[in-house]
Amino acid sequence: MARVLIIDDPSGSAHSFEESLAQSEAELRVIRWSEAAAGVAVEFEPSLVVLCLAASSGHGAARCAALRAEPTLDGVPLLVTAGALEQDELARCLELGADDALVLPVHPRIVASRVLSLSRAKHEREAQVQLARQAEQGQQAFRTTIDALRRSTEAMENSERRKRYLETHDALTGLANRHYFREFTRRTMGYARRYGNTLAVLTINLDHFDRVNENLGHATGDQLLQSVAKRLRSCVRGSDIVARFGGDDFALTLTSLSSREDAAIVAGKIIETITRPHEVAGGEIYVTPSIGIAIYPDDGESPDGLLRSADVALHRVKEHERGNFQFYSAEMRGGSLERMQLEVMLRDALERNEFSLYYQPQVDVAKGELVGCEALIRWIHPERGLIPPADFIPLAESNGLIEAIGEWVLRTACAQKKAWERAGLGSFPISVNVSRRQFRSAELPDKIRQVLDETGLEPTHLELEITENALIEDLQQTLAVIRRVRELGVGVAIDDFGTGYSSLAVLGQFPASALKIDQAFVRDIPADTARAAITRAVLAVAQELRLSVIAEGVETRAERDYLVEIGCERMQGYLFGRPVPTAEFEALWRDGGPIDR
Ligand code: C2E
Ligand code: MG
Ligand code: MG
Repeated sequence: MARVLIIDDPSGSAHSFEESLAQSEAELRVIRWSEAAAGVAVEFEPSLVVLCLAASSGHGAARCAALRAEPTLDGVPLLVTAGALEQDELARCLELGADDALVLPVHPRIVASRVLSLSRAKHEREAQVQLARQAEQGQQAFRTTIDALRRSTEAMENSERRKRYLETHDALTGLANRHYFREFTRRTMGYARRYGNTLAVLTINLDHFDRVNENLGHATGDQLLQSVAKRLRSCVRGSDIVARFGGDDFALTLTSLSSREDAAIVAGKIIETITRPHEVAGGEIYVTPSIGIAIYPDDGESPDGLLRSADVALHRVKEHERGNFQFYSAEMRGGSLERMQLEVMLRDALERNEFSLYYQPQVDVAKGELVGCEALIRWIHPERGLIPPADFIPLAESNGLIEAIGEWVLRTACAQKKAWERAGLGSFPISVNVSRRQFRSAELPDKIRQVLDETGLEPTHLELEITENALIEDLQQTLAVIRRVRELGVGVAIDDFGTGYSSLAVLGQFPASALKIDQAFVRDIPADTARAAITRAVLAVAQELRLSVIAEGVETRAERDYLVEIGCERMQGYLFGRPVPTAEFEALWRDGGPIDR
């Protein structure tokens, strides 16, 4: 229904207009100009405003402009009416925004018709605006829905893609994983067969990578692996594949090579590239890779066969010359099979009680007495007989079994020593060899304390031997452990001294208590003047550093005599006694000691 707000200006001018609408259905509200139209507009919500001007008021145009500027009447049609003499004023109102003008008097029906059509205009405009708004909202909603749909489709595609990616790639480095590597290699083998090409599989392992993790933390280790992965990729063509199998094990398949030499060239490039310093965690890290190479079809007919052959070659590199590469050859297979069998046997050896300790005397020839004994492990295999430590200790180090074996040695030696003491035999220390891996473990001091507590052995009656090479490989970590061991009151001897390359400056830092001159420097002195000179120099340094010195591997009287002459009185060697089992060692004692027979 039409709602007409009539502004009577001045008062009474709206009268005839009002009367014209009396019969219509329109709802009317008449106010004077002086009343605030804005307030009424808010409450009445007119569909039409009629401004009734009196004759010669002179302010019609100004009023019209004011109404048009009124925000509460925004969009409400404005009709101006006046007598015939005011037509100029009405025309000006039209210019200033009035929607229509009516010259009175005019037939009431005409008035009613004009009012209704103008009112409707407002409704229609409102409806249009409403419709447009709804359309806009609808479109917006539509767009939002489509967007959401697209996003969720994308997310689905992404997660599908991501899933596929994770199934085929290594998350840390973005390289292919083992599964994808196999598939890829299988396919390229097919092509190589058809076109008579050569194909090479390389397995790559970083030397001493575990130390990066141990010393600098896994986050740094991961960054190093990422850096290595990037460089590996830069060494190969787009048609080749680079994979990570976990840890620091990488593999590569080089496709369509013209000869074996091509693989050697790539391996050389990889070594050169990986060996350059890696900028990781704000510092520089150096690593060397060891690489094994297998060639298709000579060294294997399946991806796994090729990987196995490359691994055999890789092991060979690790054993002989880290930081290098080797091609697989059939003769290698025998050695590695042997190694694998040994490894299987070694795993059972502890459980089956196949280890025992032999003891070798250490003497002070000037005093003519026993000053110590070294416990040396022996593995007596039921079928193979005695397996020397040199054949299984390095293997146990590489597969981690040394932890358990080393603990067994420590416990057995300490218990044995305590038993001898209870039997009134000797109060000298017992020497126990501790591997490099044990010495890098921060748990070693606690383990030692535990064993001492359990066995009741005095800490001063225990001495650990660590080889010079193991010591300098991982200086800081080992130093920290040695310090803690020394704090327990336990001695630490540097074994095989002279075979490593520790400088005198480094030697001064070791909180060691003793130094064992390696048998290589004892052999054939004094005839070998160069060795004799080194032995003398070592002795001088040890005295300077207040370390007790013992010479190993003394086999002849000539060696013994020369050592005494230059001031080294403590010795160990076949001349005084070979390593022997417990009972024999005890017998040696009862016979009056092992001295210089
Ligand atoms: P090492 O600690 O330097 O032990 C001395 C080695 O020299 C022993 O070899 C000993 O039998 C040998 N030897 C002693 N006197 C003479 C001699 O006059 N002439 C010659 N030619 N050799 C002599 P063994 O028992 O075969 O041990 C070899 C190495 O294995 C040891 O060298 C040590 O590094 C390691 N080892 C032995 N037992 C253990 C153990 O329980 N734990 C660890 N981690 N390593 C061990
Ligand atoms: Mg030793
Ligand atoms: Mg030694």
